[in-house]
Amino acid sequence: MHKAIRCYIGLGSNLDSPQQQVARALEELATLPGTHLLTHSSLYRSPPMGPQDQPDYVNAVALLETTLDAHSLLDQLQALEQLHQRVRLERWGPRTLDLDLLLYGEETISTERLSVPHPGMHERNFVLWPLSEISPDLALQDGRPLATLLSEYPIGTLERISL
Ligand code: ATP
Ligand code: MG
Ligand code: MG
Repeated sequence: MHKAIRCYIGLGSNLDSPQQQVARALEELATLPGTHLLTHSSLYRSPPMGPQDQPDYVNAVALLETTLDAHSLLDQLQALEQLHQRVRLERWGPRTLDLDLLLYGEETISTERLSVPHPGMHERNFVLWPLSEISPDLALQDGRPLATLLSEYPIGTLERISL
């Protein structure tokens, strides 16, 4: 048993009712062993990254507190992706559910399976804006305040979905 760590999860979906996929995944995150869902952002609609011939995405960020170690948490996230029948075909291709571990406490992790902080998070407005909704005062490992990144990666075509 590890001590409870706060971690952020990035959620994304663009297949089979993306909004429902993300809403369901938030509920499932709350049921993971040794884990509490502390809060989550609104849902956002964003244009696809990478291949453009795919539907828009629905994204959100969740804040968890967990006693799972980082690799066990990744196992659980991948099991949830499987539960949502995710099929991997091409890089950044369409998917029913993507669950990325953005931050795991203050830890830096670099293994074959896991890079934390998530390497893409600093330059993706669909991560930064939902993150700022739940943790506006967050600073990144390198000391840069989230507010600075928000000005570098403006909200642009990212659209908050009112529920
Ligand atoms: P990106 O990671 O650029 O957002 P993606 O989410 O589409 O792309 P996936 O197909 O979901 O990529 O994951 C590919 C691999 O990334 C996984 O098998 C996993 O082992 C690895 N990985 C490394 N770091 C992380 C992380 N922080 N969160 C989730 N998966 C990670
Ligand atoms: Mg991803
Ligand atoms: Mg992923």
